[in-house]
Amino acid sequence: MMDIHLFSTIYVGIIGLLVGSFANVCVHRIPRGESIVSPRSKCPSCNTEIAWFDNIPILSWLLLGRKCRHCKTSITWRYPLLELTMGVMWASIVWFYPTEKYDPVFLTQAISLVTLLWVLTLIDLETFLLPNALTFPGIALGLAFAAYFDFFIDSLIGTVAGYGIFWLVARLFLMFTGKEGMGQGDFKLLAMLGAFMGWQALPFIILLSSLTGAIIGSAFLMLANKGLKAEIPYGPYLAAAGVIWFFWGTEILNWYQQFMGLT
Ligand SMILES: [Zn+2]
Repeated sequence: MMDIHLFSTIYVGIIGLLVGSFANVCVHRIPRGESIVSPRSKCPSCNTEIAWFDNIPILSWLLLGRKCRHCKTSITWRYPLLELTMGVMWASIVWFYPTEKYDPVFLTQAISLVTLLWVLTLIDLETFLLPNALTFPGIALGLAFAAYFDFFIDSLIGTVAGYGIFWLVARLFLMFTGKEGMGQGDFKLLAMLGAFMGWQALPFIILLSSLTGAIIGSAFLMLANKGLKAEIPYGPYLAAAGVIWFFWGTEILNWYQQFMGLT
């Protein structure tokens, strides 16, 4: 008999693959303001509708030899990559979550947050946008989970403070440099992280994302030799810092308190 933990992991992983397939549609259509429910997916080259049997995550891509069945244009590797990462992330959340305090609501919260952040990251990398169509529902979802887990006030403060802090930083940056630093989307993404995790998460997220953003960003600029004019999306750093705090925040806080001799 199959172990229930392994079974749940595989089951949720497969759902993750399917949602990854839908996430591809979101990444493509949301920044273009198109509907994510209709019409059916089409080949971007020949516009032929993609049949369900050619739309099975990863498998279809491999079976079709990475090409469209009709026009033979190659299909970008980003589609199966997104499906695979989504499946792996969903499965890992179930696999590594301690089963003795198994709570399906927590799993749903973790999976929603990781999925939203991953889709936002990919959209930001491609278009430099963090669409309201994702961040607004994300904020609402974060507040709803917080209400369920009894930290609604912390979550509400986190939402307002998340937006407010970045708004203020952007205003000051504009005042002193005359340039736009962050985008409005970044304010709303930090608000969403504050909603999901409460205001306590904000110092770590702001610190880690700005540090990694500065380090990786300047390394990238040097390698790409584009000078300081190149635009670098900040969303992915916020998303990564958010995920780290969500899963390991308590450990990080304990470690920090020990390190500072506070306990
Ligand atoms: Zn085609």
